Amino acid sequence: VPTEKALALVIRQVDFSETSRVVTFFTREFGKLGALAKGGRRLKGPFAGALDLLGVCRIVLIRKSSDSLDLLTEAELVKGFTPARLGQSPARSEVAASRNSLQVLYAGYYVAELLLELTEDDDPHPLLFDAAVGTLRDLESGDDTWLVLRRFELVLLHQTGHMPSVDACVACGAAIGSADVLWFSAGAGGLICRACAPAARGTVRLTVGATKALSLLAANGGNAWKRLQLTAGMRRELAAVTRGSILHLVGHELRTAQFLGDSPS
Ligand SMILES: [Zn+2]
Repeated sequence: VPTEKALALVIRQVDFSETSRVVTFFTREFGKLGALAKGGRRLKGPFAGALDLLGVCRIVLIRKSSDSLDLLTEAELVKGFTPARLGQSPARSEVAASRNSLQVLYAGYYVAELLLELTEDDDPHPLLFDAAVGTLRDLESGDDTWLVLRRFELVLLHQTGHMPSVDACVACGAAIGSADVLWFSAGAGGLICRACAPAARGTVRLTVGATKALSLLAANGGNAWKRLQLTAGMRRELAAVTRGSILHLVGHELRTAQFLGDSPS
């Protein structure tokens, strides 16, 4: 039987029977796929410890045609997701550390849910895979959770072809200057200039600082965005852009978003 190998991130698992589990992977090679892991619920089964949520593993599968599930034959853990590492920082109090690692865990779940909701089966996006793995690493290492998630949302929107227009007005096409006060409409799909704003619907006003931060956060490559210093107001405006775009695309708030405590609405 022909098999395929892939590097995979576990983004969902559902119990299938007494002993088996259906695992949804976001793979670097094939995009999202669902596979049946026979014996996947056994503690000492063939995949013991390899199929935890948000783990990165090397898998071997028998790919099935059309609608049926692939069959997982091997899974070897490359790296697990361990936000508890934050608790080891001596500078934090015990309570603050555990609250923080819980927040990081929810942030990881949110990354998984974004990939579930916004990617299609068998539609590979290797750069998005790399970005997701890098995002989980950034979360583990204690980077600003809020900023890391907004960056990932923008990479996801870009890689899946849903990136809102951030350098020209979506209504008239006029180039956006960095000194302009602007508006954003998730429904229209991008920034809206001062002239077009009165006729646009569902807009959010962006200050100059938020517009500049948005262009840095959306820039291809580099880590300059990690040094952004944002006020609470700028965070609200940027969340309205990225999470507003996702809300518009998916049609409902993501399940895990409520645990992140920074809803755009
Ligand atoms: Zn315009």
